[in-house]
Amino acid sequence: MRTFTGVGSTPLSGVGTARWYRPEADLTLPDRPDPSGVDPDAELARFESARDAAREALRLARDRAAERVGEEEAAVFEAHEQFLDDPELVGDVEDAIADGTPAEHAVSDRFAAAIERFEALDGQMAERADDLRDVRDRLLRVLLDAGADADDGTALADLGGLPAGTVLLAERLTPSDTAELDPDAVAGIATVEGGRTAHAAIIARSLSIPAVVGVGEPLREIDDGAELLVDGTDGRVVVDPDAEARAAAGGDAASAVPDRVSTADGRRIEVAANVGSEAEIGPTTERGADGIGLFRTEFLFYDREAPPSEDEQYEAVTAALSAFPDDRVVVRTLDVGGDKRVPYLDLPNETNPFLGRRGVRLSLDEHRDLFETQLRALLRAAASEHGDGLAVMFPLVSRIEEVEAAVSAVESVAADLAAAGVEHAVPELGAMIETPAAVFLADRLADRLDFLSVGTNDLTQYVMAADRENDGVADYHDPLHPAALRAIDRTASAAAGTDAWVGMCGEMAGDPALAELLVGLGLDELSMSAVTVPAVKERITEIDSADARELADEALACETRAEVRELLDLDAADAA
Ligand code: PEP
Ligand code: MG
Repeated sequence: MRTFTGVGSTPLSGVGTARWYRPEADLTLPDRPDPSGVDPDAELARFESARDAAREALRLARDRAAERVGEEEAAVFEAHEQFLDDPELVGDVEDAIADGTPAEHAVSDRFAAAIERFEALDGQMAERADDLRDVRDRLLRVLLDAGADADDGTALADLGGLPAGTVLLAERLTPSDTAELDPDAVAGIATVEGGRTAHAAIIARSLSIPAVVGVGEPLREIDDGAELLVDGTDGRVVVDPDAEARAAAGGDAASAVPDRVSTADGRRIEVAANVGSEAEIGPTTERGADGIGLFRTEFLFYDREAPPSEDEQYEAVTAALSAFPDDRVVVRTLDVGGDKRVPYLDLPNETNPFLGRRGVRLSLDEHRDLFETQLRALLRAAASEHGDGLAVMFPLVSRIEEVEAAVSAVESVAADLAAAGVEHAVPELGAMIETPAAVFLADRLADRLDFLSVGTNDLTQYVMAADRENDGVADYHDPLHPAALRAIDRTASAAAGTDAWVGMCGEMAGDPALAELLVGLGLDELSMSAVTVPAVKERITEIDSADARELADEALACETRAEVRELLDLDAADAA
């Protein structure tokens, strides 16, 4: 029995058989034959049938992703399919074949040229280049007959069709890879790279797939076919686990659906869920969430050619409201920029995108039109059957003027709707606290708004100057550093003297081991991936508020992350 440690990402456990995903492997081309020995007609026919096979695989992948994760995520496969039918690209490959190039070399050459063209346009088109690489590799896998079987470590062509009991091992998974996985077949995921706040990890959690990320190079020592336990609670991957190891693994113990919860001494804490697509709403209700604390509307904008219409957004929001008729649904206005790219929005190409035009900055300036369309949809939804539960929050706030401008945009959209005789209402309004500037201004923000919600994924990155996606600074990107804790404390204390409630929707909120600390810091609401809702609810019922405050004070008095971790009885290696 050997144990590898990484970062527990989905706090569930699973046992299964290791299969490596190596999308780049085994796509080496054979030597180029002399053109005189190539039969162009036969090669054209091979290219055509490879396109058909790739198209069929993409449609299957699309349908699976639509069913499991949502229409918006599934649309990435439609974009890939468009490349298969792109007349210029297809024509280029056919010309090369007609000149005596075998199909696989023609695909490789002509796609390489197209990829280069996309990369040369500007940095934002890099995503399209990645899409092209994906389509090229699908075609090559068919042409080279690679990836049908993973036993020899070759690439797996079809992530959505993995056999039951697979533990998927990979260097790193992309969000679209993850969205393709069948949670009923995949017993677990372990990756060499990646952190728990990366978007692929967030999708794995929303699919309830046990996951350990960032295991590092040692993971490569595991061979295909090994029996593995993925313990996403303790961040372990165990090879050939014995009965004791299986029993000790944190399972999904608290999967019952508890009602609304209060601390042992009666302080009500709302435990809500983060939702990144309509398909996640069902599992969220099943896990007993008290509503939605973060509806990430950017998912509605991904993998398509143009922004969603006002009506589409209205439908998505009212669907969420109907799923939680008695609870609050907090919808975040569009939060793109940084690592969240949307090619058709023509986002600026910046040296430091995380310090650039992101979140509400874009909404108030170059994407004001999208902001107003979204606000129209939201104000109409606020007047729908269950609309009184709607709350709207603005991402990446750093200035009072932004909140004033956002609130006046809401007022002016309301006035336009009134003038047009359209039914509408103004929902609760709030700001995400994700920047140190917002922390320092939290008292003023709380005066102007109905609520604040702490986004620890970004707040930690900005307080600690540590990129949330960079494994090299993962030790810094931990909200248990005293500086990050003080930022949370300052926010909660600032709201405490006002009518505003204060919640947390960063990944920190979903760790049951931190619930007492967060209650002690004064948070009224915790919002998380649905999978941890039951465990956090259970933990809250055991907490005494006075003890929790004492614990928070002790944590705030600590000088180092190690001291905080020791106080909370956490392993130094766990990342929050
Ligand atoms: C956060 O930054 O903590 C947050 C919840 O927003 P996102 O992860 O979508 O950036
Ligand atoms: Mg954020």
